[in-house]
Amino acid sequence: MANEQQLIRKLNSTARLREIMDGYFVRLKQAAESGNKKIAWCTSVGPEELLYAMGFEVYCPENHAAMLGAAKTAEQYIPVAVAHGYSPDICSYLTSDIGAFLKQETPLKKYGLAAPPRPDVLVYNTNQCADVQHWFAFYARHFNVPLVGIHTPLRVNELSPHTIAYIAREMEALVPQLEQIAGSKFDMDRFKETVKISRAACVLWRQVLETAQHRPSPLNFFDASIHMGPVVVMRGTSCAVDYYKLLLQELQERLHANVGAIPREKYRLYWEGMPLWFKLSALAQLFAKLDASVVASTYCNSWVFDDLDADDPFVSSALAYTKLFIARSDEVKEKVLAELLEKYAVDGMVYHEAKTCPRNSNNHYGLPQHIQHKTGIPYVEIQGDLNDARCFSEEQSIIAIETFIKQLETRNQL
Ligand code: SF4
Repeated sequence: MANEQQLIRKLNSTARLREIMDGYFVRLKQAAESGNKKIAWCTSVGPEELLYAMGFEVYCPENHAAMLGAAKTAEQYIPVAVAHGYSPDICSYLTSDIGAFLKQETPLKKYGLAAPPRPDVLVYNTNQCADVQHWFAFYARHFNVPLVGIHTPLRVNELSPHTIAYIAREMEALVPQLEQIAGSKFDMDRFKETVKISRAACVLWRQVLETAQHRPSPLNFFDASIHMGPVVVMRGTSCAVDYYKLLLQELQERLHANVGAIPREKYRLYWEGMPLWFKLSALAQLFAKLDASVVASTYCNSWVFDDLDADDPFVSSALAYTKLFIARSDEVKEKVLAELLEKYAVDGMVYHEAKTCPRNSNNHYGLPQHIQHKTGIPYVEIQGDLNDARCFSEEQSIIAIETFIKQLETRNQL
């Protein structure tokens, strides 16, 4: 058995990832201080391409909230937001982010930012949930700046031309107001070019994730959750494209050398739900110790917007952002999951029920049972949260995971 230090094989690209993310925050700091560029806050699966094309620097509060979770500081901030009228049961990204803001604390201090960069506009898409609109409304009120958005219907089954056209029109309708805020005219060629770059980054990200089809997998969910930073906040910039070329190359080298993300890959698992940011490393160690590689996840696959098409940027953006897993009906989700389980040769599924994010918890309406019935692949459920550690019973979850791996072992022996 490998010792603790050897359990996780660190990717060399991580050093470059840090530089890229540092550069991103430095650009935001410069924009905030000099005012030479306007700043748009955008939801992580919102229309970043449009904003980058219109000359904004783009800041994602969800990325900031995940940083609070990973730094294990969210717990200090959630009660502050609760004291200001936000329920402890709603999105803990929202409550930790607003709580930190009210307390005037931020992990961005290490980049020289005393607070998140002041927005000139806030742009959301409700494709992921309605909480984002309430979250951004807090800041719109605080800074007295415009709040605009795209209203994607819930549980989309068929991606009908009518639905896509409606969302494309909503996106296009943002342009006049964004022009006013940006102080410049919308340039269709620039938008097309940004969409093209964004698609290239998304395709590379998909190829990065697909290396995990190899046995042993050179990448696991816990690494991917960290390395997805550029595709989340910098889609539409060459920084993301350059970074994923580098990461893909390193993963391909691992693949050719038969080097897995963990020393011994006996079981291949699928992670359904959000990461527990405050336990990311501990869970990575736990699964590695059990010789289980978490080879695929809904979460990391969510940023594969490969339907973007520079020839039809508004309509293809509407399609890409509505095709998103979280926005779809259970019928579609079942189909997508069954395909991914087969593609990645998965032995078992882990459902993380995030207490404050029902939209990312797919174990509420019988989906795990349906998938097991359809594919024969067993599953385990754990109760936790993305940022609120009080929702996570660690001991109980470890026992559940260990028992599940033992069951997989027994199945293999039959
Ligand atoms: S999808 Fe979940 S985690 Fe993301 S903003 Fe909405 S409630 Fe929060």
